[in-house]
Amino acid sequence: MSRRTQFVSYQPKTILNKGQRADHWFWTRYSAYPYTGCQHGCEFCYCRERKYCPRDDPNDFAYVIKAKENAPQLLRRALARVPVDMIFTGDYQPAERKFTLSRQMLEVCCDLGFPVFVLSRSPLVLRDLDLLQAINERSRAVVAFSVIAAPGSPHYERVCQMERLAPPAEKRFAAMEQLAQAGIQTGICFMPILPGLCDDNANLGNVVRWTADHGGQFVLASGLTLADQQRDFFFGVLRERFPDLLGPYKKLYPEGSYAPAGGSWPKIGLRIREFCSQAGIADRMPRPIIPGEKRALNKRVVEALANQVYAMELHREASQRIWAYRKAAWAIEDLEQEIGLVYRTMGLRGLQSIRDVGPGLAAEVEKLLCPSYPISK
Ligand code: SF4
Repeated sequence: MSRRTQFVSYQPKTILNKGQRADHWFWTRYSAYPYTGCQHGCEFCYCRERKYCPRDDPNDFAYVIKAKENAPQLLRRALARVPVDMIFTGDYQPAERKFTLSRQMLEVCCDLGFPVFVLSRSPLVLRDLDLLQAINERSRAVVAFSVIAAPGSPHYERVCQMERLAPPAEKRFAAMEQLAQAGIQTGICFMPILPGLCDDNANLGNVVRWTADHGGQFVLASGLTLADQQRDFFFGVLRERFPDLLGPYKKLYPEGSYAPAGGSWPKIGLRIREFCSQAGIADRMPRPIIPGEKRALNKRVVEALANQVYAMELHREASQRIWAYRKAAWAIEDLEQEIGLVYRTMGLRGLQSIRDVGPGLAAEVEKLLCPSYPISK
């Protein structure tokens, strides 16, 4: 029997989550969400983990939707007190038709000049295209769609069953095309790549091709994690509807593990990189820069270093080297001066004076600042 959705309105005290600096994945420093719970109810969703869903029945996550009715007012007050930077916001599950909180939150971001990143599994986001265009003109907007299997892939039907409450992937790709035509940066979050269902070359190539063919600029991918009550819930789904998958998944995710045993991720990431390169798109999200941003070059250097970190992770380089690059990227993100000016006035010595940038990394950064390097153009 299908379960009825219960809506609960409430007034939280706070709305804005603040990071110390922008992350190297979606380039967001802040996040603010209008709802808890998600009617799309994807069976693989990590949000059923106890830390995100502290309820006795993890499937309440899909059927008890809490709307933060004062979210726009809280957001306006909170954003007025923090430096302008990218915010991860909006939630276009069906509840949005009833409460319109995502639209009201985008209006706040538009008024205050904050760039936004929206991740959606629904074309409902197109309802707010006018607002996204206004934000994009002033401070940049990026909309990514969640897709883990594309039509024509060998296990497409099975994946569709696991996300059957969400609009089909074809509709998400069509929405992506409209956003791209409107000049909004868009792409795919290919997360989570389900072992045995989404990680075959046919599906990896298909998702990348559908993205490129519909104006997407990037495919950002990561693997499946399973923890505590979400692991039990997902294994219950496999036991009931996909029993042939239960044994292999139990082997991949033994009790107490979070990521799959055997560390297959870098190989999959490298295959996606290859497909993206053939299709002429990126496997990283290009960093949006606010028009007129004074430290645009700093942000481009950080982006280039973060891309190197990702490449090193895919090639399983030594973690010490990876951390050195990551820490240098953080230090340059925090730098108050414009890095080009630091270099022009003090040369390599100036670069070495930046926290966590030693002689080796200063030479790397110098290459990025060289006039023939793409970020300097
Ligand atoms: S749309 Fe996203 S948040 Fe909602 S259930 Fe699916 S994976 Fe989870």
